[in-house]
Amino acid sequence: MRSHEDWIQEAAKATLHTRPFIGGRFAETGDAAFENRNPATGVLLGEVADAGAAGVDAAVRVARSTYDSGVWSRAGVAFRRARMLRFADLLAEHAAELAVLDSLDMGKRVVDAFDLDLPFSVDLFRYYAEAIDKINDEVAPTPPGTLGLIRRVPLGVVAAVIPWNYPVDMLAWKVAPAMAVGNSVVLKPAEQSPSSALRIAELAVEAGIPEGVLNVVPGLGETTGKALGLHPDVDVLAFTGSTEVGRYFLQYAGQSNLKQVWLECGGKSPHLVFADAVDLATTAKQTAFGIWFNQGAVCSAHSRVLVERSVHEEFVDLVAGEAAAYAPGDPLDPAAGMGAIVSPEQTDRVMAFVDVARTSGARLVTGGERLARDGSDCYVQPTVFDDVDPTSPLAREEVFGPVLAITPFDTEEQAVALANDSAYGLAASVATSNLGRAHRLTEEIHAGTITVNGVDAFSAWTPFGGFKGSGFGRDLSLHALDKYVGLKTVWINH
Ligand code: NDP
Repeated sequence: MRSHEDWIQEAAKATLHTRPFIGGRFAETGDAAFENRNPATGVLLGEVADAGAAGVDAAVRVARSTYDSGVWSRAGVAFRRARMLRFADLLAEHAAELAVLDSLDMGKRVVDAFDLDLPFSVDLFRYYAEAIDKINDEVAPTPPGTLGLIRRVPLGVVAAVIPWNYPVDMLAWKVAPAMAVGNSVVLKPAEQSPSSALRIAELAVEAGIPEGVLNVVPGLGETTGKALGLHPDVDVLAFTGSTEVGRYFLQYAGQSNLKQVWLECGGKSPHLVFADAVDLATTAKQTAFGIWFNQGAVCSAHSRVLVERSVHEEFVDLVAGEAAAYAPGDPLDPAAGMGAIVSPEQTDRVMAFVDVARTSGARLVTGGERLARDGSDCYVQPTVFDDVDPTSPLAREEVFGPVLAITPFDTEEQAVALANDSAYGLAASVATSNLGRAHRLTEEIHAGTITVNGVDAFSAWTPFGGFKGSGFGRDLSLHALDKYVGLKTVWINH
């Protein structure tokens, strides 16, 4: 296991690319530049090119000509599978380097990136590589003398716009299935976390994936992201990010070429804790993980806990007792409980929620302070508010930070009503030993993923996505492939 010193050395070796990667090389396109700073220290990491409309156009042109050439889109599945497996191996070989890039860019604990994000992404590339030669097209039961084929065909140019909270994973969730079925991809990483994506694009070429299949355009949302959303030659736009920005992409599609848009947006996921939970202490650990892991910057973070009144006080104490394990520290230090918040602006936003909660009648149980260290004040204590009014901002809005809202309930009906009273519907978790209740609640709670006796479960093999304001796209599993293929019907009569 690497020590703090080992990770500091790994970070000192890191090369952070700053130019768009188009057609297999770093390009000079992109006029403006923006600063990339390490939120853990405030240190300037680089001036990154904002690809802008010109850079996006160059990338889409290359992606289109690569697609049309057939070098990837019409290559046999064995060819694509072999190269994607080699790509996955290369990602695994470069796991420490990529983990450090994400940690430097956006402040997460490097060991989480190395132990969790990277292995998950590597497995995902392998999963989709192995899937593509095991899925058959269909033959419809058409009348004698006819043959009706239902073919799944790649759509062409897929644009992916992703957030900063899991830079490598979010890339893999989009790029692996899109690429596996033969599309070319233009990816815009978040402005806070461009480095791993640019390096990964280089590794794709090293793995033998043809130049132009994976292009990366760093940049700002309002320029580069918007240009992708409006581009007339993008066939599919796969977005992960806030609900607010998700709305823009639907508009961009309407204003341009009706490209297919898939949205995976935010959440305000509830964790329902009943007095008959199998073990309250274990449940409290799950609650703590569900809100404080990754500094709370998880779309499916279980940021609302609804707890049955008879165990309410005991449970609040148990959760508060877990806070010490999540004390923020140097993201390169394996002993840190949490890393840094991604930026000063996001830290301000988190603290604004804390300040409103303090004055809105909720009881601050633990945390609530912004911390400074190593030249940065982008650190927030793991925070719990109790007796949170379900109509208050902390109970309704996505904080995307380490702030938990607890609200007691008296009956199961009340708990379900509170859980469903949300603009979001991404995930929910239920702690109960009552099998009937577990079944009932999985039917009654409106969320894309419901975990019973655990929190926020997900895997490569199961779809991930939401309802309502959380969007409608599904990442992961074989279902994700549906976003990146079109159904083509072919009739042959004789
Ligand atoms: P944002 O919605 O702010 O940004 C997401 C991406 O969209 C970024 O690349 C961003 O660029 C870009 N963008 C921003 N504004 C525009 C615009 N006007 N036009 C086009 N593109 C734009 O989200 P964050 O990066 O802050 O990430 C946090 C959000 O992501 C949370 O809401 C979280 O819930 C959600 N998320 C959802 C997941 C899911 O699977 N459902 C998984 C992970 C996160 P820029 O970086 O320059 O702002």
